[in-house]
Amino acid sequence: MARAELMNFDAALDQFEPVIGLEVHVELNTRTKMFSSSPNPANSQFHSAEPNTLITPVCLGLPGSLPVVNETAVRYSISLGLALGCSIAASSRFARKNYFYPDLAKNYQISQSDEPIAFDGGVEVELDGGRTIVVPIERAHMEEDAGKLTHVGGATGRIQGAEYSLVDYNRAGVPLVEIVTRPIFGAEKDAPALARAYVATIRDIVLALGISEARMERGNLRCDANVSLRPRGAQQLGTRTETKNVNSLRSIERAVRYEIQRQAAILAGGGAITQETRHWHEDTGTTSAGRPKSDADDYRYFPEPDLVPVVPGAELIAELRAALPEPPAARRARLKVEWGFTDLEFQDVANGGLLAEVAATVAAGASPAAARKWWTGELTRIANATGRDVTELATPAQVAELAALVNEGTLTDRLARQALEGVIAGEGSPREIVDARGLAVVSDDGSLYAAIDEALAAQPDVLAKIRDGKVEAAGVIIGAVMRATKGTADAARVRELVLERAAAS
Ligand code: ADP
Ligand code: MG
Repeated sequence: MARAELMNFDAALDQFEPVIGLEVHVELNTRTKMFSSSPNPANSQFHSAEPNTLITPVCLGLPGSLPVVNETAVRYSISLGLALGCSIAASSRFARKNYFYPDLAKNYQISQSDEPIAFDGGVEVELDGGRTIVVPIERAHMEEDAGKLTHVGGATGRIQGAEYSLVDYNRAGVPLVEIVTRPIFGAEKDAPALARAYVATIRDIVLALGISEARMERGNLRCDANVSLRPRGAQQLGTRTETKNVNSLRSIERAVRYEIQRQAAILAGGGAITQETRHWHEDTGTTSAGRPKSDADDYRYFPEPDLVPVVPGAELIAELRAALPEPPAARRARLKVEWGFTDLEFQDVANGGLLAEVAATVAAGASPAAARKWWTGELTRIANATGRDVTELATPAQVAELAALVNEGTLTDRLARQALEGVIAGEGSPREIVDARGLAVVSDDGSLYAAIDEALAAQPDVLAKIRDGKVEAAGVIIGAVMRATKGTADAARVRELVLERAAAS
């Protein structure tokens, strides 16, 4: 639907109540996969492996190969379930979800169906304005990821119109937890923002647990957004659509908002919503129809006969519960006070996904203000300009060192940005770069005299003007000195010295 045909968002909210449901897939960063000893590409250590190099007979479903459950993945799943406020099943089972598609060589995915490891939870999600909503969690279950297909030769990258497809089984068997919410009511006009904030909260939780790299652009965290509308006052839920794999926080918010406006236009025009999956298009900010999807998709689930039930035992659950990190909402509130940030300053950091970086930079000795300034300022600017991930550009320790160099007067802000360039280019630590590039502020007057005297001698007419009291002419000399010292001199001090030398010569 073209944007012009959408119903205005506020008008849509006047007539309809939005209901959303979110499915989030989290790739766990265990060293090996869910059911095999193959290295796990969702662990950044193995992220850049060549296609089809991280595979075993189990990943390929070869005859005679048998799955073995990864104990760490089970522990991570239980920790995540507990952090989501869920009950943990005393016994839960794996099931086969049968379908044919070449992204899984076995023709079924090992998942969990009627016996998920975690169920009945709730997550407190805070919106920008401070409003808090508890999102009800239906279940969190363990499963394996599928391989990746690349459709080559078409205009869209989809299978339609492609000449051939490539399959990479590295991702086949990566441990996943799928977290499914119950339908969420009452968010009203905040529904799009809530969808975004919910996924951001899940990201914070898994990062705090250390169980996933949680990078959306790499598919470590993927969200399907279900949206339906019902007329104000209606009891029955409307027909939902499921927008698949929206891969940034911003897109989730946009996609939910778009679906509300699209569905409202159809319903108000007397039409009906088709229950289907939809694809999000980042460039146009619209969704388009995927495949029809009934509630009765029959995957012929049946218990996985090759795996015994998972029976964690009360002791393990208690151990993992005791080890849970501070919940994200409490942590944010604490950090905001400790750092002395205003609401806006804190939101800047939190919305930029930089809480962990700023915290680590402060822990490495920087002031909270300096840590915030570098991460949300220059580093974010460079990340946006180069399309790189901001956390990849520099480490918290490097940023803290840079802040220390500014603080002790070795670098001005401008020189520090040059040193940062060096850090990003991989030239070493900030101090090494300051030495190698000769960036330190020249503060001893002795080394400035030579440059000043040389500049004055080269331009006798300027010298004469300064002597005649035309001090504005000093700018030319100051400029020459700054060039000669490659910008490392303190310009105010140079000015004082130029006037002093001119008078004395
Ligand atoms: P599927 O197999 O279609 O992915 P799931 O149960 O895994 O089904 O997920 C469906 C999601 O959609 C859940 O989050 C659920 O709460 C939500 N949902 C179900 N019905 C509606 C509806 N009418 N409107 C909005 N969300 C819904
Ligand atoms: Mg689902």
